[in-house]
Amino acid sequence: MDQAGWITRLQEREVLWRHDGKTARPHAELTSGRHSDAFFNCSRIIQDPALLAEVCRDIAARTDGQQRPDRIFGTAYGSIPLALELATAFTCRFGFTEREVGGPLTLKRFDIKAGERVLVITGCHTMENLATIAETVGLVEARGARVLPKVGALVSRDGGTVAAGRPVFAMDLAVKFWAERFYDLLKYGAAQAAIDNPGMLENIARDLVCNLRLAPEEQPAWVVATGIDAIAFSYILAKHLGCNAGFAEREMRKDAPLALWQFPAPNGLKVLAADDVITTGGSTLQTIAALRAAGATALPYCCAIANRSGKPLLHDRPIFSLLDLSCSDWAPEDCPLCRQGSTAIRPKGRWHELTQPVS
Ligand SMILES: [Zn+2]
Repeated sequence: MDQAGWITRLQEREVLWRHDGKTARPHAELTSGRHSDAFFNCSRIIQDPALLAEVCRDIAARTDGQQRPDRIFGTAYGSIPLALELATAFTCRFGFTEREVGGPLTLKRFDIKAGERVLVITGCHTMENLATIAETVGLVEARGARVLPKVGALVSRDGGTVAAGRPVFAMDLAVKFWAERFYDLLKYGAAQAAIDNPGMLENIARDLVCNLRLAPEEQPAWVVATGIDAIAFSYILAKHLGCNAGFAEREMRKDAPLALWQFPAPNGLKVLAADDVITTGGSTLQTIAALRAAGATALPYCCAIANRSGKPLLHDRPIFSLLDLSCSDWAPEDCPLCRQGSTAIRPKGRWHELTQPVS
């Protein structure tokens, strides 16, 4: 599909929003503090595995003729499933960068509604993780959603078989089955070794869906991961369940640089940096810097769903994106929408206020 086709489609899906000129409608305050009459809400793609897969297939096709990556690195949480799907399309591995964390778990990106059924998934189920599972269950229930009576885990080490009052269904056996047959890396049931391999993860997720034996009235509307170590897993699982994916995430310090924590990048490994939206490109450049510091080779191009930077290159690297968007933004004092009486709001968490019907 070409750019015009995608723009129409993503406007229909309320991924891409443009102000319609009605002053009763608020407009968007960007992270930079500037105001805009347009916003590209990537979480609305990320929460829909079928749409995300289609988007990633298209982006992967656009990089034909480029050097193939060994691994794809996403920049922080929002782009992890993107990196995963791109990795699937490329038949290679993936990993991610994350910030140093400190605050409580929050569930802010995903519009989980009252009454929706939610399956909570964790990566590695351990004693330390029990509190995280309980926190995630609490956050989902606070939205009025119904958390399913089973918690899924990729592996269970020492966390027992119950979390937040729910039985834990760990996939240790399936992980070992796939690992023994196909992968030398995964000998001791460490979740990371499965999480960075989309092919194996897909098989494990399919097994888990079979083993859960959910009754029709138990089919989830969402699969929610307890944190970053489970995002990729829950995402693939969501694909097989035919439902949405989402995740809880920690509040991050804004000034903490991106760093590689879980995924070592051996010398010479060819790595592709992927981001959901490139605006200034800061997080992509930080990821590339972190990859270089770790000894990996960052490929001379990068991928994104939407390129909002207005430029085809990010520091000499071509950006392969689904959409090249040119959106206006203004300093608050120069904003024409403010002058007309429209209010500026942060789109994340208040998306419905931008898109609801106004007179
Ligand atoms: Zn404004």
